[in-house]
Amino acid sequence: MARLAFLCDFDGTVSPEDIGHNFVMRFSARGDARASDAERREANARLEDLAARWRAGTLGHRELTEAECALLRCDENEAHAFADGFALDPTFAPFAREAQSRGAQVLILSEGFDFYIQAMLARAGLSDLDVASNRVRFERGRVIPEFPHAARSCGRCGNCKGAHARDWRARGYRTVLIGDGYSDRCAARECDVVLARGSLLDWCASERISATGFDSFEGVLDRAREGAA
Ligand SMILES: [Mg+2]
Ligand SMILES: [Zn+2]
Repeated sequence: MARLAFLCDFDGTVSPEDIGHNFVMRFSARGDARASDAERREANARLEDLAARWRAGTLGHRELTEAECALLRCDENEAHAFADGFALDPTFAPFAREAQSRGAQVLILSEGFDFYIQAMLARAGLSDLDVASNRVRFERGRVIPEFPHAARSCGRCGNCKGAHARDWRARGYRTVLIGDGYSDRCAARECDVVLARGSLLDWCASERISATGFDSFEGVLDRAREGAA
């Protein structure tokens, strides 16, 4: 049997919480205790409008991220302190080590940001995992997003997981997607096995993409073996 490559979404999957979303909520005027009520209401309306256009498919993830970051005020120390408040799903590290010991690849693919992904992986002793994500630079209180993987995007994603899935298939791996949301859709179309929850599971059903539900990373290796057999 071909070797397995596990393509793991981060926000809402490896991390139970959607940290990227929380970051935007916290560091826009919406989450700023010093902002006036009017500023908070305006930021809230703009964020809701962006999210609605993204869900409707008229705004790509890269454009969404750029527009959200333009609303944020945060320096690097604040961002790192914020990331300290979150932790990985405790079943993820044991899964990753067991998968690697069996010769599988375990990869984090994310439309979120490097600063919290790397900090959280390091705290879990997983700094060596391969991560492909978007990045941010902090410049005098501004948050500037960067998209190092955008060149191979489908045009909507900032970091298209479908392109990564095609790479791993081309290298001869059986690809297993583990994810929960919109940013996983391109990969769900490309992967050999899909383990899904949340809106991704519903979307796969509506698109007739075969997907299996999951609650945690416990049992994921067995389910991937069944699906890949
Ligand atoms: Mg997610
Ligand atoms: Zn895509």
